Parts: sequence; C-alpha cells; structure tokens
Amino acid sequence: MVLYTPGQMTSYPSSPVENGGLRFHFLGGGDEVGNVGCVLEDSAGTLLLIDYGFLPSNPPRYPDEAPSVTDALFTHAHLDHFGMAPWLVAAHRTNLHVTPVVADLAEMLWRDSYKVSSIEGDPLPWDKRDLEEALGHLQSHPTGVWNDIGGWRWRSHIAGHVVGAVMYEIETPDRKILWTGDFDTRDSPTTQGAKPVQADVLFMEATYGDSDHPERAAEEQRFIDRVVEVVERGGTALVPVFANGRSQDVLMLLWKSKLKLNVHFDGMGQRVTKTFLAHPEFVNDVKGLKEAFHWSKRVSSKSDRKKALSADVIVTTSGMLDGGPSLWYLNRLRNDQRNAILLTGYQAEGSGGRLLTETGRLQIFGKLTDIPLEVDRFALSNHAGQKQLLEFALATHAKDVILFHSDPDVRPTLADLLEKEGVQVHMPHNHESYTI
Ligand SMILES: [Zn+2]
Repeated sequence: MVLYTPGQMTSYPSSPVENGGLRFHFLGGGDEVGNVGCVLEDSAGTLLLIDYGFLPSNPPRYPDEAPSVTDALFTHAHLDHFGMAPWLVAAHRTNLHVTPVVADLAEMLWRDSYKVSSIEGDPLPWDKRDLEEALGHLQSHPTGVWNDIGGWRWRSHIAGHVVGAVMYEIETPDRKILWTGDFDTRDSPTTQGAKPVQADVLFMEATYGDSDHPERAAEEQRFIDRVVEVVERGGTALVPVFANGRSQDVLMLLWKSKLKLNVHFDGMGQRVTKTFLAHPEFVNDVKGLKEAFHWSKRVSSKSDRKKALSADVIVTTSGMLDGGPSLWYLNRLRNDQRNAILLTGYQAEGSGGRLLTETGRLQIFGKLTDIPLEVDRFALSNHAGQKQLLEFALATHAKDVILFHSDPDVRPTLADLLEKEGVQVHMPHNHESYTI
C-alpha cells in the first residue's frame, strides 16, 4: 500500500513566494513522461494545482503528495494526468475543474483503474469511497469561458492530443501563463490541432523534444498497407489500442480507407467513443466518427468475442498488452503465423508490449509465452514532435519556456533550439521549487 499522509509528506515548501514572483513546483512529471502534478503560486498567495496523475507502470509511479489546494485544473482524462484526483478530494476536498468530456469519462476511468490495480495487486492510494466522493467534486467548464480562482482568472483551449483535452491560459496580476498539457498542433482523425495562445510564460510538454515524427499521412498509409497484407494472406491483424484516443483514431483510419474490411471493436474504447459522440463540439469529424463506430462490429459478449477471431482486424484494449481483451485474443491468435500484431502507441518500460518487441515473448495469464507472430510498430503519436513544439513555442511569444513531461536526455535538444531564438528555457526537476 502506498502511504500518503495528507499535508505531512509533501515536498512543497510552506514559505511565501517573493514579491512579484511566480513559483512552480513539480510533484511529478517535471523530468519524466507522465505522473504529472504541478503547483503554481504567486506572492499574493493564489495557489493552484495543475493535473495530478500516476504512471500505471509496473510497479506504478506516484507523484509527491499535493499540498492543501482548493482548486485543481485537469488537462485530460489519461491516468498519468488525472488518476490521483480521488486522493485530492479525500485529502483536501479540492474542486476538480475539467472539460465536459473529462467529467463524463471520469467515473469509467477511475473504476477501471481501481479494478486493474486490484487485479495487479498494486493498491491505489485512494479507495472506492474516495472515488464516489470525487465524482461530486467535478466541475465541468466549456472551452474559452473565463473563471476565477483567488486573484487569477483562467480559461481553456483545445489541445489536440485526445478528444476533450485542453490547454490552460491563466492570467495572474503580473503575467499571462499558458499550460499545454499533452498537446499536438496537428489534426488527428478525431481532434483538431492546438493553436498557439499569446503568453509571457509557457509550460510546454516535451515528450518528443528531440525528434520529428514521420509524416502522418505516410505513416497512416503504411499502417493500412500492412493491414491489407495481413488480410490478403488470410490472417487477422490485432491492433492493441488505448481506450481514450487511439482506439477512435485507428477506427477512423480503417473506415476512411474505404476497404472492405471486417473490423471488430472490443473493450472500453466503445464506451469512450459514445462519450466523445455526446460532445460533438470537441470532435474533429463527428459524422465520420459516428459512421466509423457503427461500421465496426462492436463486441459485447463472449460469443461476439469468439466470432471476432475470424475478423480481418481486431481493435481492442489494452494498448500495451498488459491485460484486457487484447491478451485473450493474442492467446488464441498466436499459433497461426498469418496473423500479426500492429502496435500504434507508446509501449512503456515494463509493459507487455515492450517485452514483446524486445524478446518476442509475453506474460499471458501469468505464464511467459512465445509469440511467433509478426509485430510491427507505427508512429501515430498525438503529441507534438520537435518541429511542432518549436513552432508553437515561438508563436506564443513567451519569454520564459518551461519544458516538462520529458525524459531528461530528450529536452536539452529542444532547449538549445529555443535558446538560439532568445527564449529563456527552464528544465525543472521533480520535488524542487523554482521562482520566476
Ligand atoms: Zn495524455
């Protein structure tokens, strides 16, 4: 059990912020990908937490304890940004500010992570009662509308990344702040790309600070070509996906190809898609998503699942092959080498997908098993690549740029490029306070 003692173990200092300064302090996600939580405070004592999540790795990683905060802004509903919210409510009765999409996804995602953590034997620092209580503390806000917290005001803007993800524009008496959260300026099949917002201080994720993505259209075509190849040899392409974002993108790609494909859609992504469709103002092509969803064969029973074994394509969770229907399918598809596994998402250290790509083996129901199938990976990331990050940062005209959500050896490349343009770059570490 992870021991969290509210207010007693936080790394956040109790000293006041010096006059006119802005203090920022990463509880997690400063010099790592995911696990994000950051406290912002000014000298007038206005205090805000942005995001509070944990990394569902093996074992999970948690941020430092948050200090007592009345309000927290959440950028999107991925666990590494949102998964600790129930703890916040239990410990500090914090108001959780979210978009309408995130408000509707919260219960499903928290319940699922509670279930997964019980199965994995990695208990969360919050329990079912905290979850119920947290639901009552969600405050949903449309994009573009100003709200007040202490002496600050804030509003949200579309961030790309996934449907319902936002950036935050925050005005303090002294400066204008832009917080990107996970973002992408490129359109994805389901979301519109983020647009720059003028700011003095920019907090920007830098997951891909050191590299450019391959051209998206070419990568999407390569994915479709590989699907066709597998289907033509009589196989089934298993596409493990994350429920929130990638599953809808993959479904749209397959549907848009206009190929006669027999695509089965299984797992929590189905409910997430219904939630997206209930919020058309956040979806890039709502008509397309609706058609793609109804075009796929939705798997909802054991017999559906057996039928899906003869599909052309199975799109299902979990995206990192750590459980869920994807392992059930793989266990049955692994003996026919006409089948293939097409990975479209990030495979974290310690995940099943990472083990598979490195060793050709996978834990299936507790047993390390050979998987003699073709495995291919596709870069369909919904994070900005280096080029997009650089262009975006310069377009905001921010004088100070804080690069976070990045592996420590990744962000210096981007920092160099920004410094050449006269930008003051900051590369914060977790557990430490900085004042600008
Ligand atoms: Zn994310």
